[in-house]
Amino acid sequence: MRIVLISTPIGFLGSGKGGGVELTLNSLVTGLLSLGHCIDVVVPKHSKLFDINKDAKLHFVEGVEQVSWQHQDYYSPASIPDNSLLTGMLEKAIDIGKNADIILNFAYDWLPIWMTLNLNIPIAHIISMGSESSVISNLISKVYRKYPYNFAFHSNTQACDYPFIKNPIIIGNGFDLNTYIFQSNKDGPLAWVGRVAPEKGLEDAAYVANQLGEKLNVWGIIQDESYASKIEQSLSSSTIVWKGFLETDKLQKELGKCRALLNTPKWNEAYGNVIVESLACGVPVIAYRRGGPSEIIQHGETGFLVEPNDKDSLLSYLRIINKINRRDCRNWVENNASTNIFANRVVKWLTKVIQKN
Ligand code: UDP
Repeated sequence: MRIVLISTPIGFLGSGKGGGVELTLNSLVTGLLSLGHCIDVVVPKHSKLFDINKDAKLHFVEGVEQVSWQHQDYYSPASIPDNSLLTGMLEKAIDIGKNADIILNFAYDWLPIWMTLNLNIPIAHIISMGSESSVISNLISKVYRKYPYNFAFHSNTQACDYPFIKNPIIIGNGFDLNTYIFQSNKDGPLAWVGRVAPEKGLEDAAYVANQLGEKLNVWGIIQDESYASKIEQSLSSSTIVWKGFLETDKLQKELGKCRALLNTPKWNEAYGNVIVESLACGVPVIAYRRGGPSEIIQHGETGFLVEPNDKDSLLSYLRIINKINRRDCRNWVENNASTNIFANRVVKWLTKVIQKN
């Protein structure tokens, strides 16, 4: 197939602003190329794909970025800035799409979903978040009635945020296992990885580290400075060690040295890439039973799940984390979330979309 991918309009690939979508898109391109498909990707200017994806053709677009929906009011209207990056990316994708089999959209926004009703070429959507906007959810509901196959989700729990979708298409996610090196050492520090923003709940992990009198290594971009400094001020000592945003290769080297990853989301996490990346390095994860993490972590085998917001249980499980066999963590990723498994699921889905459109 010739597939045109539309990247996120929140930030360029490599900026970290697009969160998990950046890695997901890269992993999917790796998998699709290895299956022999022809890939074009429409991206914001300055974007870079991983070196392994050099055979994908990039199309750069300049313009003003969209504001991420989770940082707006749920009932905000959809808005398009002057010189909109999103609009430019869609125009480019439609143009290239004339010679393609399908357009695959990663942008969680109103306009590309609305276009499903108005294009001659099929457009499929990977929905990357739970319901974060009334106007988008209502539009998905409307488009779904006519095009029930055009939406896919990362996890069942995420899809539950869209109750009008019957039998949702679940594609999980994929990771290039050659990128993640298994490390067996069980005595390392504690890790937390993600965008530093309120929906990610860093404060709960920091509380637990503080209670243990340990440091918490934090990797990721600080999206909300005032939120970050509020957490710091609430702790008695310098519990948090800010490690910044690292490229995947460097991140996995550091992450693999850790004893455990804490994952404490406050929203319905669509998937939770950092959980699988951690497992791929052999690092068990203790997470809230909320969204994707509850479907990824095998309780007692690859980590532990605790009820959302229950910090005391996080602490209790952290004390017995060394009971987890780090090899089992890696094995789960190999068997369930490789780029190949992911790409095959997506191809099966896209083939159906093309047939039904
Ligand atoms: N990430 C990264 N470098 C860092 C910290 C995070 O590349 O230093 C990436 C990580 O690999 C993951 C993404 O940020 O792909 C976070 O995705 P996740 O699905 O966990 O959460 P989201 O940001 O989408 O809510």
